[in-house]
Amino acid sequence: MTQNLQIELTGVDKHYGGFHALKDINLSIPNGSFVALVGPSGCGKSTLLRSIAGLESITGGVMKITDEVVNDMPPRRRDVAMVFQSYALYPHMKVIDNLTYSLRLKKTPKAQARKMAEEVAATIGLETLLDRYPRELSGGQRQRVAMGRAIVRRPKVFLFDEPLSNLDASLRVHMRKEIRALHDRLGATSVYVTHDQIEAMTMADHVVVLRAGVIEQQGAPLDLYDRPASKFVAGFIGSPAMNFIPGRTNGDGTSVDLALDGQPTLRLGRPAAANQDVIVGLRPEHLSMASTGDNNFAVRVGVIESTGSTTYVGAGDRNDITVVLSDRRNISVGDRVQLAIDPDKVHLFDPITEAAL
Ligand code: ATP
Repeated sequence: MTQNLQIELTGVDKHYGGFHALKDINLSIPNGSFVALVGPSGCGKSTLLRSIAGLESITGGVMKITDEVVNDMPPRRRDVAMVFQSYALYPHMKVIDNLTYSLRLKKTPKAQARKMAEEVAATIGLETLLDRYPRELSGGQRQRVAMGRAIVRRPKVFLFDEPLSNLDASLRVHMRKEIRALHDRLGATSVYVTHDQIEAMTMADHVVVLRAGVIEQQGAPLDLYDRPASKFVAGFIGSPAMNFIPGRTNGDGTSVDLALDGQPTLRLGRPAAANQDVIVGLRPEHLSMASTGDNNFAVRVGVIESTGSTTYVGAGDRNDITVVLSDRRNISVGDRVQLAIDPDKVHLFDPITEAAL
């Protein structure tokens, strides 16, 4: 039993009737950590979060919060607070009443509840909005009230269900820093569901990638980026997504031929099995465009998109090889260019199992 573990899931399963939504989930969340659950729509992120909250009952395995088995414990006894994408504010109550609602349910004296709510409001910049109704607030302000409502309860664990998806892009970037700073300040444990891998990578200490109810891989954000265990994780973590090109390793396993025009060869950072069909993974930001250089292959430029700071190039026969350049280049659609890559940055995957090789 580890004192330091806030949440521990062992062999957790969830069936909705005949549908197996979570399959043998094993997850240990240390006290004070920020864990992100990511994965495509329908992979089970919300089901897992709602199961921790007690809003769904699990159908197998053991779930512990602070060393106590909570499988059958009702939500209100779990000492967790959930922040929803929809904010779930009471529309007929002012901000102050939304903030004090849970305290009043716990019979906290009115003056004390107000004081606690005012303190929380001050920490998250709501102090001037206490007398407004939710309809009189912007999306970002409503999101703050939803967070304030969770904070005021001083829970052991915060559970966030895609809390920023209704905000515009720049506010999202701002709020993700704010949520992370708040987490650090409160010393709480946070579990955060998002389908946005950038949010997961930038906010969390530990990222859990779910696929069809199974944990495909979990680890520190940069470990997942550097050492994806499967093609699925490799394609999900990193933006733009990793390029995948079919290939075949050579007779001594030290290089790979790409299934592109002219079958160019790339050296590998470490040897692989010889004469094996593989999928070659090359991150867009690891490809450089050099007229001379080592370990390169030629492609035709099909699309050029520049945001000013960054240039995205779509190359190859179907423009499906993406290259990210952080500087401006004098290239045009139709040019034939050389793409070079460090051998250590070449990933290989099994074409059948999709496992990293
Ligand atoms: P999204 O990003 O779209 O919200 P998610 O990863 O959070 O997806 P969940 O909401 O956890 O996915 O759903 C996981 C799977 O379980 C989905 O296939 C969904 O259809 C199914 N599911 C969820 N709730 C129920 C339910 N009450 N009854 C039956 N199936 C359900």
